[in-house]
Amino acid sequence: MFRSRNSKVLSALASVIFLEQNSWEFKMLKGKTALITGSTSGIGLGIAEGLAKEGVNLVLNGFGDAAEIEALRVRLENTYHVKAIYDGADMSKGDQIEAMMKHAAETFGGVDILVNNAGIQHVCPIEEFPVAKWDAIIAINLSSAFHTTRLAVPYMKEKHWGRIINVASAHALVASPFKSAYVAAKHGILGLTKTVALEVATHGVTVNAICPGYVLTPLVEKQIPDTAKARGMTEEQVKRDVLLAAQPTKQFVTVEQIAGTTIFLSSDAAASITGTHIAVEGGWVAH
Ligand code: NAD
Repeated sequence: MFRSRNSKVLSALASVIFLEQNSWEFKMLKGKTALITGSTSGIGLGIAEGLAKEGVNLVLNGFGDAAEIEALRVRLENTYHVKAIYDGADMSKGDQIEAMMKHAAETFGGVDILVNNAGIQHVCPIEEFPVAKWDAIIAINLSSAFHTTRLAVPYMKEKHWGRIINVASAHALVASPFKSAYVAAKHGILGLTKTVALEVATHGVTVNAICPGYVLTPLVEKQIPDTAKARGMTEEQVKRDVLLAAQPTKQFVTVEQIAGTTIFLSSDAAASITGTHIAVEGGWVAH
């Protein structure tokens, strides 16, 4: 009798502790460090802002006007009370990536959340595709993630916690004509995601990809005038009939939605999600 009452009390206590632990676990991102490649613009900037809101310290990276980047860094620090540093490493250069990872380690000890996001695009038929563009896209959109990942993993293993999130694309799952290098790189990054996930699975480290559909960022905006010219369309027609043609929602995905998915994948709720992708593409690949 005493025993059974006692076990009831114990189980009630256990549920309270479980609930408290669970709500505490959702706040676990505070004080962690994220490195987001290509975070001076578009999706990367949205992810940096979203993680900073959760109390995550930042290593920003990407190109842009030095004064504007410094203003961004200071704004993120002051708004969210986190520490943010900037490293302008060129993601097409292995030695600069190594120096950036060293810079992050010297400042924060290491990187807990690695977001491989930097990317470029070039649209051209295969027989005219400039070789230099192919090399640049493979280097920035694919090989840079190999370098950051190989350098981030030892610290994550040591801490027995880590999140690697690769911003891939719906073009990691399906192809479109004239985007050979981009589609090849994005399919490649899914392969890297799965392979590294298997290698680090017992170390508290998850590796996943996010596959966005069209998000209206500078990368996409730059394609609109050329496509309009090439197809004899207005820019509005290009948005509706070309870009959003395959996106059943007929809405652009937002950077906030990609940031929210990144925060979810970083949380403990996603600790058992690894080696896979989340498509945030308005139903594109359901066709
Ligand atoms: P964006 O052009 O707005 O931003 C790209 C970022 O990468 C910028 O900060 C830029 O400075 C940086 N960058 C480019 N080259 C670099 C280099 N060599 N070294 C370091 N930084 C470099 O583009 P975005 O749309 O925000 O794209 C971000 C990622 O999302 C890319 O990997 C892209 O392929 C992917 N994506 C975008 C869309 C979309 O519709 N916008 C859809 C699917 C996937």
